[in-house]
Amino acid sequence: MSKLKGIAASNGVAIAKAYTLEAPELSFETKKVGDVAKETERLQDALDVSKQELEKIKENARQSLGDEHAEIFSAHLLVLSDPEMITPIKDKIKNENINAEAALDEVANMFINMFESMDNAYMRERAADIKDVTKRVMAHLLKVSFPDPALIDEEVIIIAEDLTPSDTAQLNKQFVKGFTTNIGGRTSHSAIMARSLEIPAIVGTKTVTDDVKDGDIIIVDGIDGEVVINPSDDVIKTYRKKQDDFAKQKEIWAQLKDEPTVSKDGTHVELVANIGTPNDVEGIINNGGEGVGLYRTEFLYMGNSDFPSEDDQFDAYKSVLEQMGDKPVVVRTLDIGGDKELSYLDLPKEMNPFLGFRAIRLCLERDDIFRTQLRALLRASTYGNLKIMFPMIATLDEFRQAKALLLDEKDNLKGEGIDVSDDIEIGIMVEIPSTAVIARQFAKEVDFFSIGTNDLIQYTMAADRMNERVSYLYQPYHPAILNLVNNVIEAAHAEGKWAGMCGEMAGDSIAIPILLGLGLDEFSMSATSILPARTQIKDLSKEELASYKDELLSMSTADEVETFIREKTNQ
Ligand code: PEP
Ligand code: MG
Repeated sequence: MSKLKGIAASNGVAIAKAYTLEAPELSFETKKVGDVAKETERLQDALDVSKQELEKIKENARQSLGDEHAEIFSAHLLVLSDPEMITPIKDKIKNENINAEAALDEVANMFINMFESMDNAYMRERAADIKDVTKRVMAHLLKVSFPDPALIDEEVIIIAEDLTPSDTAQLNKQFVKGFTTNIGGRTSHSAIMARSLEIPAIVGTKTVTDDVKDGDIIIVDGIDGEVVINPSDDVIKTYRKKQDDFAKQKEIWAQLKDEPTVSKDGTHVELVANIGTPNDVEGIINNGGEGVGLYRTEFLYMGNSDFPSEDDQFDAYKSVLEQMGDKPVVVRTLDIGGDKELSYLDLPKEMNPFLGFRAIRLCLERDDIFRTQLRALLRASTYGNLKIMFPMIATLDEFRQAKALLLDEKDNLKGEGIDVSDDIEIGIMVEIPSTAVIARQFAKEVDFFSIGTNDLIQYTMAADRMNERVSYLYQPYHPAILNLVNNVIEAAHAEGKWAGMCGEMAGDSIAIPILLGLGLDEFSMSATSILPARTQIKDLSKEELASYKDELLSMSTADEVETFIREKTNQ
């Protein structure tokens, strides 16, 4: 028996025979071609067959996973007919006289590299979409068969280098009990889909395809992120018990779906979700979310070849607001620039994009772009409970300017006879240490704070959040971070305002007790983290946790904080 660690991507325990899903061999040689027309036709045939297959997979996904996930394949189909992708491939064949395989590979890699270098996990996943589609087209060009997980007809756990969205959509839950891969992270498509299918999954094991043979009995423990290979009968028994306990645990979580989030001693906090598109709202509703804590609007801008019109934006915001009814929806205005590029916005390259011309800095200079978004938001405001926040605010002056533009557009709309809500709260994201430090002064003017710890940690620790080598400095429990967070919460409360958090830290089971003790009012996280968090909070005493505040804030290291919290909360 041996064990392997990975990233727990989807909860639960699966025990079954390993089924290795091998990636097709897609190597090719770059060749010169004589007949360009024939080569272009070969490419077109491969694109057409791929489209037909994807239509089928999309239909399967719609039936087994629902509309939201089927949309991934609409995105794949769009890649296949997107002139920005296909025309350069055809041009390469024509102008460089190279074979379709080489042209496809070069163009696809250019797009993959572009998306992979973005600092946003969601956009990095778009690179996975292009990889997935490209492999399918390449397999058709090379006439090699593409794996078909839909044919599995016995209980198995899938082992793979990586699972593409199309692999995952073909998984039949009746037979596929779980999966584990060498690469991937918690926000990869395969992980997201595993959570929707509710099958245990571990990604990022690095070596599972080397360590496990077809037919080995394995256990995927998606709770603790462990793969057990060829376990003894006794070990299997232990994990069967863990499986039963987890099933019971889920029943307990589900009981809280329609309940408010209340600590053991009666403090109510809000558990809301982070979303990127109106499609994500379904997940919030299914998981008992109490609202939207962060709507990242930049995806509206990134999926297009031009700025989205005011009407297109209005439709998206209205859809989210209507679906959420009277629950709060916090929309973040455009957070673009730096390394989150828009192909149609010609920005000069910068030495330090994270410290550069981005987010509110860009919006204040390009107020034409900003005003369009503000108008769309204001028009949508009458359809629900809208709150607006500005990203990357470093000075009070930036906030004042942004708010003035918002109020100006409100006046304009009213002048045009268009209805606008008068109850829109206007807040800021706290992502920059300068703002966290003088939160007192900000609190007099903003309606709320939402702490963006993904960036706040990167700026406080001076550690690029994209750089693996300094990822050890991403320390949410570092006392410096806790002091900043505490400062923001205290400042909000001193002025009768509320403080939320929408960085990854808000859904972290070690951070949750700390934040509850510090008095955080709103926790915004991925939808599937909501019910476990609600269950955890139900058993925590806010008063007890608050009594540790001074001790925690004066600790010296993140490790000290973690050890202390684990001990106090039995984790
Ligand atoms: C953050 O910085 O914590 C945040 C939520 O914003 P993003 O991850 O989109 O930068
Ligand atoms: Mg941020």
